[in-house]
Amino acid sequence: MPLALSILVVLLASLLSGLLGALAAGLWYRRRPRPADLIDPDCQHQLEALARAREASERANAELRRALDQLERTAATDRLTGTWNRRWLEDGAAQLIAAAGRGDAPISLILYDLDHFKRVNDSFGHEVGDEVLKSVTEAVRSQLRASDALARWGGEEFIALCPATTLAGATILAEKIRQAVEARVTPQAGVVTISLGVAQRQEKESLEGWIRRADEALYRAKARGRNQTEASLDVGVAAGEDRPSFLTLVWDPALACGEARIDHQHQELYRLSNGLLASINQGRYPEETKLHMQLLIAHVAQHFHDEEDILIRVGYPHFAAHAQEHGRLLAKAKTLQQQMGGDSADLPAILGFLALDLVKGHILGSDRDYYKYLAQD
Ligand code: GH3
Ligand code: MG
Ligand code: MG
Repeated sequence: MPLALSILVVLLASLLSGLLGALAAGLWYRRRPRPADLIDPDCQHQLEALARAREASERANAELRRALDQLERTAATDRLTGTWNRRWLEDGAAQLIAAAGRGDAPISLILYDLDHFKRVNDSFGHEVGDEVLKSVTEAVRSQLRASDALARWGGEEFIALCPATTLAGATILAEKIRQAVEARVTPQAGVVTISLGVAQRQEKESLEGWIRRADEALYRAKARGRNQTEASLDVGVAAGEDRPSFLTLVWDPALACGEARIDHQHQELYRLSNGLLASINQGRYPEETKLHMQLLIAHVAQHFHDEEDILIRVGYPHFAAHAQEHGRLLAKAKTLQQQMGGDSADLPAILGFLALDLVKGHILGSDRDYYKYLAQD
Protein backbone atom coordinates (compact mmCIF):
# COMPACT_ATOMS: atom_id res chain seq x y z
CA MET A 1 0.00 0.00 0.00
CA PRO A 2 1.40 3.36 -0.86
CA LEU A 3 2.23 5.49 2.18
CA ALA A 4 -0.36 8.19 1.41
CA LEU A 5 -3.19 5.66 1.26
CA SER A 6 -2.20 4.02 4.55
CA ILE A 7 -2.16 7.43 6.30
CA LEU A 8 -5.65 8.15 4.94
CA VAL A 9 -6.96 4.81 6.30
CA VAL A 10 -5.53 5.48 9.77
CA LEU A 11 -7.08 8.99 9.81
CA LEU A 12 -10.51 7.67 8.77
CA ALA A 13 -10.37 4.96 11.43
CA SER A 14 -9.56 7.42 14.23
CA LEU A 15 -12.32 9.81 13.07
CA LEU A 16 -14.86 6.98 13.13
CA SER A 17 -13.86 5.83 16.63
CA GLY A 18 -14.12 9.47 17.91
CA LEU A 19 -17.65 9.80 16.51
CA LEU A 20 -18.75 6.54 18.13
CA GLY A 21 -17.27 7.65 21.51
CA ALA A 22 -19.14 10.97 21.43
CA LEU A 23 -22.41 9.22 20.59
CA ALA A 24 -22.00 6.84 23.51
CA ALA A 25 -21.23 9.69 25.94
CA GLY A 26 -24.34 11.59 24.74
CA LEU A 27 -26.57 8.55 25.30
CA TRP A 28 -25.16 8.04 28.78
CA TYR A 29 -25.77 11.73 29.69
CA ARG A 30 -29.41 11.54 28.53
CA ARG A 31 -30.04 8.48 30.63
CA ARG A 32 -28.43 9.92 33.76
CA PRO A 33 -31.13 10.90 36.29
CA ARG A 34 -31.43 14.71 36.75
CA PRO A 35 -31.83 16.25 40.32
CA ALA A 36 -35.51 17.09 39.69
CA ASP A 37 -36.22 13.45 38.82
CA LEU A 38 -34.98 12.50 42.30
CA ILE A 39 -37.50 14.77 44.11
CA ASP A 40 -41.13 13.85 44.25
CA PRO A 41 -43.43 16.45 42.59
CA ASP A 42 -45.05 17.52 45.90
CA CYS A 43 -41.73 18.39 47.43
CA GLN A 44 -40.67 20.21 44.26
CA HIS A 45 -43.75 22.38 44.57
CA GLN A 46 -42.88 23.27 48.15
CA LEU A 47 -39.31 24.19 47.20
CA GLU A 48 -40.55 26.56 44.53
CA ALA A 49 -42.97 28.20 46.95
CA LEU A 50 -40.12 28.62 49.43
CA ALA A 51 -37.94 30.32 46.78
CA ARG A 52 -40.78 32.68 45.91
CA ALA A 53 -41.34 33.53 49.58
CA ARG A 54 -37.65 34.23 50.02
CA GLU A 55 -37.62 36.58 47.03
CA ALA A 56 -40.67 38.42 48.37
CA SER A 57 -39.08 38.85 51.78
CA GLU A 58 -35.83 40.15 50.23
CA ARG A 59 -37.86 42.68 48.26
CA ALA A 60 -39.73 43.74 51.40
CA ASN A 61 -36.42 44.08 53.28
CA ALA A 62 -34.94 46.31 50.57
CA GLU A 63 -38.07 48.47 50.64
CA LEU A 64 -37.89 48.71 54.42
CA ARG A 65 -34.24 49.74 54.20
CA ARG A 66 -35.10 52.44 51.67
CA ALA A 67 -37.94 53.67 53.87
CA LEU A 68 -35.66 53.74 56.91
CA ASP A 69 -32.99 55.69 54.98
CA GLN A 70 -35.66 58.13 53.87
CA LEU A 71 -36.97 58.41 57.44
CA GLU A 72 -33.48 59.04 58.74
CA ARG A 73 -32.92 61.72 56.13
CA THR A 74 -36.27 63.29 56.95
CA ALA A 75 -35.53 63.20 60.67
CA ALA A 76 -32.21 64.96 59.96
CA THR A 77 -33.59 67.52 57.51
CA ASP A 78 -35.25 70.82 58.23
CA ARG A 79 -38.66 70.76 56.56
CA LEU A 80 -38.88 74.43 55.65
CA THR A 81 -35.44 75.08 54.20
CA GLY A 82 -34.24 71.58 53.26
CA THR A 83 -30.99 72.08 55.17
CA TRP A 84 -29.78 69.61 57.78
CA ASN A 85 -31.31 70.18 61.20
CA ARG A 86 -29.88 70.62 64.66
CA ARG A 87 -30.15 66.91 65.41
CA TRP A 88 -28.02 66.09 62.38
CA LEU A 89 -25.44 68.63 63.42
CA GLU A 90 -25.25 67.27 66.94
CA ASP A 91 -25.16 63.61 65.89
CA GLY A 92 -23.80 63.38 62.37
CA ALA A 93 -21.39 66.26 62.42
CA ALA A 94 -19.17 64.36 64.84
CA GLN A 95 -18.24 62.00 62.00
CA LEU A 96 -17.50 64.87 59.65
CA ILE A 97 -15.35 66.54 62.29
CA ALA A 98 -13.52 63.29 63.04
CA ALA A 99 -12.85 62.71 59.34
CA ALA A 100 -11.75 66.30 58.82
CA GLY A 101 -9.64 66.28 61.97
CA ARG A 102 -7.44 63.48 60.66
CA GLY A 103 -4.03 64.64 59.60
CA ASP A 104 -4.51 68.06 61.24
CA ALA A 105 -6.73 69.29 58.41
CA PRO A 106 -8.40 72.54 59.45
CA ILE A 107 -12.19 72.78 59.72
CA SER A 108 -14.19 75.94 60.26
CA LEU A 109 -17.80 76.89 60.84
CA ILE A 110 -19.84 79.94 59.98
CA LEU A 111 -22.77 80.74 62.26
CA TYR A 112 -25.22 83.29 60.86
CA ASP A 113 -28.44 84.88 62.00
CA LEU A 114 -30.92 87.02 60.06
CA ASP A 115 -30.88 90.69 61.04
CA HIS A 116 -34.07 92.15 62.52
CA PHE A 117 -36.03 89.16 61.35
CA LYS A 118 -38.76 89.81 63.88
CA ARG A 119 -39.57 92.99 61.94
CA VAL A 120 -40.08 90.94 58.74
CA ASN A 121 -42.61 88.74 60.53
CA ASP A 122 -44.26 91.70 62.21
CA SER A 123 -44.55 93.73 58.99
CA PHE A 124 -45.39 91.05 56.42
CA GLY A 125 -46.60 88.04 58.39
CA HIS A 126 -45.13 84.70 59.35
CA GLU A 127 -45.66 83.12 55.92
CA VAL A 128 -43.59 85.80 54.22
CA GLY A 129 -41.02 85.24 56.97
CA ASP A 130 -40.89 81.57 55.96
CA GLU A 131 -40.37 82.50 52.30
CA VAL A 132 -37.57 84.87 53.27
CA LEU A 133 -35.87 82.07 55.22
CA LYS A 134 -35.97 79.88 52.09
CA SER A 135 -34.72 82.67 49.86
CA VAL A 136 -31.78 83.46 52.15
CA THR A 137 -30.92 79.74 52.29
CA GLU A 138 -30.74 79.65 48.49
CA ALA A 139 -28.42 82.65 48.43
CA VAL A 140 -26.15 81.01 51.01
CA ARG A 141 -26.15 77.67 49.18
CA SER A 142 -25.01 79.38 45.99
CA GLN A 143 -21.72 80.22 47.70
CA LEU A 144 -20.99 76.85 49.36
CA ARG A 145 -18.85 74.02 48.01
CA ALA A 146 -20.14 70.46 47.68
CA SER A 147 -18.07 69.45 50.71
CA ASP A 148 -19.63 72.13 52.95
CA ALA A 149 -22.73 71.27 54.97
CA LEU A 150 -25.52 73.67 55.88
CA ALA A 151 -27.70 73.10 58.95
CA ARG A 152 -30.47 75.04 60.66
CA TRP A 153 -29.32 75.56 64.22
CA GLY A 154 -32.67 76.95 65.35
CA GLY A 155 -35.16 79.71 64.48
CA GLU A 156 -33.37 82.01 62.03
CA GLU A 157 -29.86 80.82 62.90
CA PHE A 158 -27.87 78.54 60.61
CA ILE A 159 -24.42 76.91 60.59
CA ALA A 160 -22.26 76.20 57.57
CA LEU A 161 -19.61 73.55 58.29
CA CYS A 162 -16.57 73.93 56.06
CA PRO A 163 -14.05 71.06 56.06
CA ALA A 164 -10.48 71.71 54.89
CA THR A 165 -10.96 75.44 55.54
CA THR A 166 -8.86 77.73 57.71
CA LEU A 167 -10.18 80.71 59.64
CA ALA A 168 -8.93 82.99 56.87
CA GLY A 169 -10.64 80.97 54.15
CA ALA A 170 -13.91 80.70 56.09
CA THR A 171 -13.94 84.44 56.81
CA ILE A 172 -13.56 85.19 53.13
CA LEU A 173 -16.37 82.72 52.37
CA ALA A 174 -18.53 84.32 55.08
CA GLU A 175 -18.06 87.72 53.47
CA LYS A 176 -19.10 86.29 50.09
CA ILE A 177 -22.19 84.76 51.71
CA ARG A 178 -23.03 88.05 53.39
CA GLN A 179 -22.75 89.91 50.10
CA ALA A 180 -24.81 87.29 48.22
CA VAL A 181 -27.63 87.58 50.77
CA GLU A 182 -27.56 91.36 50.69
CA ALA A 183 -27.58 91.36 46.87
CA ARG A 184 -30.70 89.19 46.65
CA VAL A 185 -33.85 91.28 46.82
CA THR A 186 -36.61 89.02 48.11
CA PRO A 187 -39.90 89.60 46.28
CA GLN A 188 -41.75 89.61 49.57
CA ALA A 189 -39.66 91.70 51.93
CA GLY A 190 -36.99 93.45 49.86
CA VAL A 191 -33.38 93.40 51.05
CA VAL A 192 -32.64 91.17 54.03
CA THR A 193 -29.23 91.00 55.70
CA ILE A 194 -27.42 88.54 57.96
CA SER A 195 -24.65 88.79 60.56
CA LEU A 196 -21.99 86.09 60.70
CA GLY A 197 -19.54 84.67 63.24
CA VAL A 198 -16.64 82.49 62.07
CA ALA A 199 -14.53 80.05 64.10
CA GLN A 200 -11.88 77.50 63.17
CA ARG A 201 -12.01 74.38 65.33
CA GLN A 202 -9.18 74.16 67.82
CA GLU A 203 -7.49 70.85 68.49
CA LYS A 204 -9.76 68.55 70.53
CA GLU A 205 -12.35 71.32 70.92
CA SER A 206 -15.93 70.16 71.56
CA LEU A 207 -18.69 71.06 69.10
CA GLU A 208 -20.25 73.07 71.91
CA GLY A 209 -17.14 75.12 72.64
CA TRP A 210 -16.48 75.66 68.96
CA ILE A 211 -20.02 76.93 68.30
CA ARG A 212 -19.83 79.10 71.43
CA ARG A 213 -16.81 80.94 69.99
CA ALA A 214 -18.62 81.46 66.69
CA ASP A 215 -21.61 82.73 68.65
CA GLU A 216 -19.45 85.25 70.49
CA ALA A 217 -18.12 86.49 67.16
CA LEU A 218 -21.69 86.70 65.80
CA TYR A 219 -22.69 88.69 68.87
CA ARG A 220 -19.90 91.19 68.13
CA ALA A 221 -21.07 91.45 64.50
CA LYS A 222 -24.59 92.27 65.76
CA ALA A 223 -23.26 94.77 68.29
CA ARG A 224 -21.16 96.53 65.65
CA GLY A 225 -24.24 97.29 63.57
CA ARG A 226 -25.25 93.95 61.88
CA ASN A 227 -24.76 92.96 58.21
CA GLN A 228 -21.11 92.09 58.92
CA THR A 229 -18.71 89.24 59.60
CA GLU A 230 -16.61 88.74 62.71
CA ALA A 231 -14.01 86.03 63.24
CA SER A 232 -13.16 84.35 66.53
CA LEU A 233 -9.53 85.27 67.08
CA ASP A 234 -8.84 82.48 69.58
CA VAL A 235 -7.08 80.61 66.78
CA GLY A 236 -4.27 82.25 64.87
CA VAL A 237 -4.42 82.29 61.11
CA ALA A 238 -3.09 78.90 60.17
CA ALA A 239 -2.89 79.36 56.42
CA GLY A 240 0.67 79.71 55.28
CA GLU A 241 2.18 79.22 58.69
CA ASP A 242 2.90 75.60 57.97
CA ARG A 243 4.92 76.52 54.93
CA PRO A 244 8.18 78.24 55.80
CA SER A 245 8.53 81.70 54.36
CA PHE A 246 11.78 83.52 53.76
CA LEU A 247 10.24 86.35 55.74
CA THR A 248 9.69 85.00 59.22
CA LEU A 249 9.86 86.62 62.64
CA VAL A 250 11.31 84.14 65.12
CA TRP A 251 10.15 84.31 68.71
CA ASP A 252 12.95 84.00 71.24
CA PRO A 253 11.81 82.49 74.58
CA ALA A 254 14.39 84.71 76.30
CA LEU A 255 12.08 87.63 75.44
CA ALA A 256 9.42 86.44 77.85
CA CYS A 257 8.63 88.90 80.64
CA GLY A 258 7.00 86.34 82.94
CA GLU A 259 3.52 87.87 82.77
CA ALA A 260 1.53 85.05 81.17
CA ARG A 261 -0.99 87.13 79.23
CA ILE A 262 1.60 89.52 77.79
CA ASP A 263 3.93 86.69 76.82
CA HIS A 264 1.11 84.79 75.15
CA GLN A 265 -0.08 87.85 73.25
CA HIS A 266 3.43 88.78 72.12
CA GLN A 267 3.87 85.31 70.66
CA GLU A 268 0.48 85.60 68.99
CA LEU A 269 1.60 88.84 67.37
CA TYR A 270 4.65 87.07 65.96
CA ARG A 271 2.47 84.27 64.67
CA LEU A 272 -0.03 86.61 63.04
CA SER A 273 2.75 88.74 61.57
CA ASN A 274 4.23 85.60 60.02
CA GLY A 275 0.82 84.65 58.63
CA LEU A 276 0.55 88.08 57.04
CA LEU A 277 4.06 87.93 55.58
CA ALA A 278 3.49 84.40 54.25
CA SER A 279 0.26 85.43 52.55
CA ILE A 280 2.04 88.27 50.74
CA ASN A 281 5.05 86.11 50.00
CA GLN A 282 2.93 83.34 48.52
CA GLY A 283 0.94 85.75 46.39
CA ARG A 284 -2.39 85.17 48.11
CA TYR A 285 -3.14 88.87 47.80
CA PRO A 286 -5.53 90.67 48.03
CA GLU A 287 -8.40 89.13 49.98
CA GLU A 288 -6.43 86.86 52.23
CA THR A 289 -3.68 89.38 52.93
CA LYS A 290 -6.28 91.97 53.86
CA LEU A 291 -7.84 89.51 56.23
CA HIS A 292 -4.46 88.75 57.84
CA MET A 293 -3.95 92.46 58.32
CA GLN A 294 -7.42 92.79 59.85
CA LEU A 295 -6.73 89.93 62.26
CA LEU A 296 -3.33 91.35 63.19
CA ILE A 297 -4.79 94.79 63.91
CA ALA A 298 -7.57 93.29 66.04
CA HIS A 299 -4.95 91.39 68.05
CA VAL A 300 -2.65 94.39 68.37
CA ALA A 301 -5.57 96.51 69.66
CA GLN A 302 -6.61 93.84 72.17
CA HIS A 303 -3.03 93.36 73.30
CA PHE A 304 -2.41 97.09 73.80
CA HIS A 305 -5.63 97.33 75.77
CA ASP A 306 -4.71 94.40 78.06
CA GLU A 307 -1.13 95.60 78.45
CA GLU A 308 -2.31 99.07 79.48
CA ASP A 309 -4.56 97.51 82.12
CA ILE A 310 -1.58 95.66 83.54
CA LEU A 311 0.68 98.72 83.40
CA ILE A 312 -1.87 100.78 85.34
CA ARG A 313 -2.13 98.00 87.92
CA VAL A 314 1.64 97.91 88.53
CA GLY A 315 1.83 101.73 88.55
CA TYR A 316 4.25 102.00 85.63
CA PRO A 317 5.64 105.56 85.83
CA HIS A 318 5.97 106.01 82.03
CA PHE A 319 2.46 104.79 81.32
CA ALA A 320 1.30 107.89 79.44
CA ALA A 321 4.21 107.79 76.96
CA HIS A 322 3.75 104.05 76.48
CA ALA A 323 0.02 104.38 75.81
CA GLN A 324 0.77 107.19 73.37
CA GLU A 325 3.13 104.91 71.48
CA HIS A 326 0.38 102.28 71.36
CA GLY A 327 -1.92 104.83 69.76
CA ARG A 328 0.71 105.80 67.20
CA LEU A 329 1.42 102.16 66.22
CA LEU A 330 -2.23 101.30 65.87
CA ALA A 331 -2.84 104.37 63.71
CA LYS A 332 0.08 103.39 61.48
CA ALA A 333 -1.26 99.83 61.12
CA LYS A 334 -4.67 101.17 60.15
CA THR A 335 -3.13 103.52 57.58
CA LEU A 336 -1.28 100.56 56.04
CA GLN A 337 -4.54 98.61 55.99
CA GLN A 338 -6.31 101.44 54.17
CA GLN A 339 -3.52 101.57 51.62
CA MET A 340 -4.14 97.91 50.76
CA GLY A 341 -6.74 98.96 48.24
CA GLY A 342 -5.31 97.92 44.90
CA ASP A 343 -4.11 94.52 43.81
CA SER A 344 -0.57 94.63 45.12
CA ALA A 345 0.58 94.82 48.72
CA ASP A 346 3.26 97.29 49.73
CA LEU A 347 5.52 94.57 51.10
CA PRO A 348 8.41 96.84 52.19
CA ALA A 349 6.03 99.13 54.09
CA ILE A 350 4.31 96.23 55.85
CA LEU A 351 7.56 94.44 56.60
CA GLY A 352 9.02 97.71 57.89
CA PHE A 353 6.08 98.22 60.19
CA LEU A 354 6.13 94.67 61.56
CA ALA A 355 9.86 94.19 61.92
CA LEU A 356 11.00 97.72 62.79
CA ASP A 357 8.05 99.44 64.49
CA LEU A 358 6.14 96.64 66.15
CA VAL A 359 8.85 94.12 66.99
CA LYS A 360 12.20 95.92 67.18
CA GLY A 361 10.93 99.31 68.32
CA HIS A 362 8.15 98.20 70.61
CA ILE A 363 8.22 94.57 71.78
CA LEU A 364 12.03 94.42 71.91
CA GLY A 365 12.34 98.12 72.77
CA SER A 366 9.82 100.09 74.81
CA ASP A 367 8.15 97.04 76.31
CA ARG A 368 11.36 95.93 77.99
CA ASP A 369 11.34 99.15 80.05
CA TYR A 370 8.35 97.97 82.07
CA TYR A 371 9.50 94.39 82.64
CA LYS A 372 11.18 95.25 85.92
CA TYR A 373 7.96 96.78 87.24
CA LEU A 374 6.14 93.52 86.47
CA ALA A 375 8.80 91.62 88.42
CA GLN A 376 8.15 93.85 91.45
CA ASP A 377 4.39 93.33 91.20
P1 GH3 B 1 -31.39 90.38 65.48
O1 GH3 B 1 -30.91 91.22 64.36
O2 GH3 B 1 -30.85 90.84 66.80
O3 GH3 B 1 -31.12 88.94 65.26
O4 GH3 B 1 -32.96 90.59 65.57
P2 GH3 B 1 -34.09 89.55 65.23
O5 GH3 B 1 -35.39 90.29 65.18
O6 GH3 B 1 -33.75 88.79 64.02
O7 GH3 B 1 -33.98 88.54 66.44
P3 GH3 B 1 -35.03 87.95 67.43
O8 GH3 B 1 -34.33 86.82 68.08
O9 GH3 B 1 -35.62 89.02 68.30
O10 GH3 B 1 -36.23 87.42 66.54
C1 GH3 B 1 -36.11 86.27 65.78
C2 GH3 B 1 -37.42 86.04 65.11
O11 GH3 B 1 -37.34 84.95 64.20
C3 GH3 B 1 -38.51 85.70 66.07
C4 GH3 B 1 -39.12 84.44 65.53
O12 GH3 B 1 -40.50 84.47 65.53
C5 GH3 B 1 -38.61 84.38 64.11
N1 GH3 B 1 -38.55 83.02 63.59
C6 GH3 B 1 -37.84 81.97 64.07
N2 GH3 B 1 -38.08 80.87 63.32
C7 GH3 B 1 -38.96 81.24 62.35
C8 GH3 B 1 -39.58 80.53 61.27
O13 GH3 B 1 -39.38 79.33 61.04
N3 GH3 B 1 -40.40 81.23 60.47
C9 GH3 B 1 -40.66 82.55 60.67
N4 GH3 B 1 -41.46 83.18 59.84
N5 GH3 B 1 -40.09 83.22 61.69
C10 GH3 B 1 -39.26 82.60 62.52
MG1 MG C 1 -32.01 87.53 64.09
MG1 MG D 1 -31.73 84.80 66.53
